[in-house]
Amino acid sequence: MRMVDVIAKKRDGLELTQKEIAALVEDYCREEIPDYQMAALLMAVYFRGMTDKETAALTMAMANSGQRVDLSSVSGIKVDKHSTGGVADTTTLVLAPLVAAAGVPVAKMSGRGLGFTGGTIDKLESIPGFKTMLTQEEFIANLNKWNIAVTGQTPNITPADGKMYALRDVTSTVDSIPLIASSIMSKKIAAGADKIVLDVKTGSGAFMKHLDDAVTLAQAMVRIGNLVNRETIAIITSMAEPLGVAVGNSLEVEEAIDILAGTGGSEDLRRVCLTIGSHMLMAAGQASSFQAGYETLEELLINGKGLSKFKELLAAQGGSPEVVTQRNLLPEAAFEIKVPAMQTGFVQAVDTALIGYSAMVLGAGREHKEQAIDLGAGLIMKCRIGDYVHQGDTVAILYTNQKEKLSQALTKVGEAVRIGQEEPVKPKLILGIVDSKGVHME
Ligand code: URA
Ligand code: CA
Repeated sequence: MRMVDVIAKKRDGLELTQKEIAALVEDYCREEIPDYQMAALLMAVYFRGMTDKETAALTMAMANSGQRVDLSSVSGIKVDKHSTGGVADTTTLVLAPLVAAAGVPVAKMSGRGLGFTGGTIDKLESIPGFKTMLTQEEFIANLNKWNIAVTGQTPNITPADGKMYALRDVTSTVDSIPLIASSIMSKKIAAGADKIVLDVKTGSGAFMKHLDDAVTLAQAMVRIGNLVNRETIAIITSMAEPLGVAVGNSLEVEEAIDILAGTGGSEDLRRVCLTIGSHMLMAAGQASSFQAGYETLEELLINGKGLSKFKELLAAQGGSPEVVTQRNLLPEAAFEIKVPAMQTGFVQAVDTALIGYSAMVLGAGREHKEQAIDLGAGLIMKCRIGDYVHQGDTVAILYTNQKEKLSQALTKVGEAVRIGQEEPVKPKLILGIVDSKGVHME
C-alpha cells in the first residue's frame, strides 16, 4: 500500500478498506508515514466523510494502537460513561459513586481540562492526597474491592488518537464527525467497558453548538458501538448554560458533595446525573425501566449511600474523606468579587463558552497542555436563564489567587450573561436519546 494512493482514493470519495485503515494507523504510529501525508488524508476525510465501516475500522485501529485495559477479572457488566465536554459539568463526580453504590462497577478513565472545558482528573486533584494515576493492578484491585476506581489516562492508551488529534488541531480538521466519533469511541473501547453511555452536549458551552450536529455525532458513535459489539446509547443534554452552579476544580468538588449530601447544588446537574445514571443501570441489567433506575439512584442520594461511596473512593485512592465535612481542606482562593447584572430584565441567554473561558482566565483551566492550574479558582453562577434580575444584582461570584485577573474576568462574565426585556423560553435540559433503534427526541 502506498500512502499517496490511499490519499487519492479518499480524495476521490471511495471507501477505504479495513486493511488500508489499520495499516495507515500503524504506519503513522511507527513514523513511517509523515505528518504531511496524514494531514492530507485527514483533510480528505474532512471533505469526503467516512462510511460506518470505515469509521468503525478507524476506531478499532486507534483502540489497538496501544494498551487495552482488560477488565475481565472484574465481575459484572462494566458500563462506562463519557461526556463530550462542557462547563460546570460535574456529572462524573456525582454519578460515579452513585452508580457504584447501586452495585454496578464503575471503571472510569478520565481526562484533564483544556480550554474552556474542565476535566475530572483536575477536579479530583483538588482533594488533598488523592492519587489520580493508578497502575492497571491498583485500578482492578480497587474495582474488585470498592466497585469504583477513577484514574487518569496513561499515555499508552490510544497513542494513535493522541498523535492524530494533535495534527488535527493544527490542520483545522478537528471538526469532522467521523474523526470525533472514532476518537472518542477508541478511548472508550481501549478503557475496557462492555457498554457505553454517552452524554452528548449541545449549546453555547459545547463542542457541538447546534442540536442537529449533536444528534449526528451521537448517531455516528452509537453505530460504531453496534458495529464493534459495544452496546452504546447517547443522551443529548443541554449546554445552553453552565450545568452546575460551580465552574472550577475545588468549587465543583464542593458542588458534587452538596448534591451527594443533599445540601445544595444545581437541580439541573442533579437531574442529568440521575438520567444518565439510570441509563447506566439499565445497560448493566440493574434496572428494569428508566423510572426504576431513576428512583433507585434518588434513594441512594436520600439515604446517604452515594455520599458514603464517594468517601470510600477518596480513601481508597489516598484522599482525605474529611473534605466532605471540612470544606476548608479544599484549596481556596484569596480574592473574590461579585459580578453585577448590567441591567434590569430577564436572563435571556448565557454565552457558556465565555463563562468557561473566564474561569480559565481566573486560573481554573489551562490554555496549553503544560500549564499549571489554580485549583481554588473559578466562579459560582448566581443566575439561570429565565431569571428576572435587577441592575446591580449579583449574577456570579469570581474566585482567584491572582488578583490582577479579576477585572478581565469580571468584564467577560458580565458580557456572557445576556439580559433583555423579553421573557425567554427556558432551554430543555434533556433533549433526546439515540440508541440502536433510532433517535427519540423529547
Ligand atoms: N473529544 C475527543 O476525544 N476527540 C475529538 O476528536 C473531539 C473531542
Ligand atoms: Ca470554601
